[in-house]
Amino acid sequence: MRVAVFSTKPYDRQYLAEANSAFGHDLVFFEPKLDISTAPLADGFPAVCVFVNDRLDRDLLAHLAASGTSLVALRCAGFNNVDLVAAGELGIDVVRVPAYSPHAVAEFTVALLLALDRRIPRAWARVRDNNFALDGLIGHDLFGKTVGVVGTGRIGGLVARCFKLGFGCRVLAFDQWQDPALVDIGVEFGALDDVMAAADILTLHCPLTPATHHLVNAATIERAKPGFLLVNTSRGALIDAEALVEGLKSGKVGGVALDVYEQEADLFFEDLSNEIIQDDVFQRLLTFPNVLVTGHQAFFTGDALRAISDTTLRNIAAAEAGDALENVVAAESVRAA
Ligand code: NAD
Repeated sequence: MRVAVFSTKPYDRQYLAEANSAFGHDLVFFEPKLDISTAPLADGFPAVCVFVNDRLDRDLLAHLAASGTSLVALRCAGFNNVDLVAAGELGIDVVRVPAYSPHAVAEFTVALLLALDRRIPRAWARVRDNNFALDGLIGHDLFGKTVGVVGTGRIGGLVARCFKLGFGCRVLAFDQWQDPALVDIGVEFGALDDVMAAADILTLHCPLTPATHHLVNAATIERAKPGFLLVNTSRGALIDAEALVEGLKSGKVGGVALDVYEQEADLFFEDLSNEIIQDDVFQRLLTFPNVLVTGHQAFFTGDALRAISDTTLRNIAAAEAGDALENVVAAESVRAA
């Protein structure tokens, strides 16, 4: 199938081109994000392929539908960036990659927490300056601490296992579905408020939906354990970033590691080192010594990129063949979440 592939970096093109030898799609790569100004690039393409920060709202989808596109293939698991109701009404199928490597994201989550708590980036910066003083680098033992996991699906389930079995933490979890395999290893499911109030470390792994938007906000921070550590590798808008800044200023929040940020679409995946960043909240976050931010890289392993490419191209092949779409996302997915 002829596919307009947006938001592509050299690594995307490399992995998609390699995987495409098994499919033979006609892939046309575009570097820009897909938005209303770049949408004409997709005119006449039956399929477009997009990534996490391409926002497909009703206007954009209407343009695509009117110019011949009937398939949107997401190269990611999350689908909060697509107006699925509009897509359904316009006759556009939306497919995604539900599970490419939950291990990549789960392992990065644990890495971020350890780097934050044990101050590894600060320590390395000091050592490179021949400063071997340890002041300000005190961390915690993870053993025996209470970890709150919100969302125990593919990624959250692995994270819960790692903290429980690997580090000997007490793991509290919140999810609408209590995975019996996690209960069997001693993960304790409870109400969201209880999990958030008891956690020394809170890690977010639920999807972004209307119900989870700003799940961490001024009120929940107020009720949380003083000095708790927060990790978010899921979606930025799970956290009210302004409330987070206040929580850090007051000391209520003991530290934060973020791989995602609500306004990341204007920032992440680009080299902005010569630019003046206009987002004051983001810039304020970067000033705290107990904040660690990465630019949406938790998924970024060769294994994951291979799996993303393979499933994306397989989804497109299934659509082209008129087969039942295994990885289709419907508006009901949002309502059910
Ligand atoms: P998943 O669908 O396997 O698991 C999500 C879990 O969240 C499910 O168990 C679901 O029941 C639960 N859930 C839904 N609504 C909830 C709510 N209101 N409160 C608590 N739990 C709720 O998804 P996954 O593969 O584990 O991915 C989790 C999220 O991670 C994705 O939604 C995506 O946004 C994010 N993600 C980030 C990266 C990255 O690179 N940073 C990569 C992949 C995925």
